[in-house]
Amino acid sequence: MWFDQHVHMEHGPYTPLEYSREWLEQFLDIGRSRQVTGLGIVEHGYRFTESAGLLPGDWAARRCLYPLRGYTKFLDEVRHQYPIAVGLEMDYVPASEEGIRAYLNHYSWDFILGSVHFIDDFGLDVGEMRDEYTRRDPEDIWSAYYQYSIKAAQSGLFQVITHPDLPKIYGFPKPPDSVLVPWYHQFVEALGDNHVALEINTAGLRRPVKEIYPHPRLLLEAARAHLPVTLASDAHEPENVGRFFDEARNLALECGIEAITAFTARGVQTISLR
Ligand SMILES: [Zn+2]
Ligand SMILES: [Zn+2]
Repeated sequence: MWFDQHVHMEHGPYTPLEYSREWLEQFLDIGRSRQVTGLGIVEHGYRFTESAGLLPGDWAARRCLYPLRGYTKFLDEVRHQYPIAVGLEMDYVPASEEGIRAYLNHYSWDFILGSVHFIDDFGLDVGEMRDEYTRRDPEDIWSAYYQYSIKAAQSGLFQVITHPDLPKIYGFPKPPDSVLVPWYHQFVEALGDNHVALEINTAGLRRPVKEIYPHPRLLLEAARAHLPVTLASDAHEPENVGRFFDEARNLALECGIEAITAFTARGVQTISLR
């Protein structure tokens, strides 16, 4: 049995004010067929009007269009009827930390995922900005990414840090291990000191890099530090729920991770990988 901690419903046939149970049930059905018995439901924090001004740049500003109430009203209706935990995937932006804290206080979430998607106004996984990887020094990108990720871990805002080596998404050249491994080490230390979990995210296998997030070297560090680790498909459509979880399990075990942590509606649970 699995718990998929990171599932988005945003591509569904609903208007933002009218979420659909049928759409949610499709995610649950596919999950069950892959031994996923519970889902962590999230939406991107930047979709909602209350997040206006928290993220840098025009891309995010054009997307905070819908009142958060549309989402939370749906969650209120379904959260006790289905095996789900309800949350938000919130961008971490160092300059907006207090604004993000106030924004997250709008609802009683079961968990919050913290994500570094942006370095200044460069969206690391925004297709239209992909060429930016060829204009910037990889070391600058990755160093900023881990500086932000460490601050996110220290912020106290999040239970989990997601897809923890996102800048590899398109397969552009990375800095050498001599640069990356010390960052992995500092990042894991910050997670451990602040009791924040690391996410194993299989969505990377659906992206050009064709790798699970994060790199095994980072997972080895996480295992050594006994960090809690969550498992996530980052599905935006039902067919991706629980996808590639066997691959994730094998990778985790190879790196010395023996169990998965799940942030459920009833609290934190541990799921053995053996
Ligand atoms: Zn994300
Ligand atoms: Zn996501």
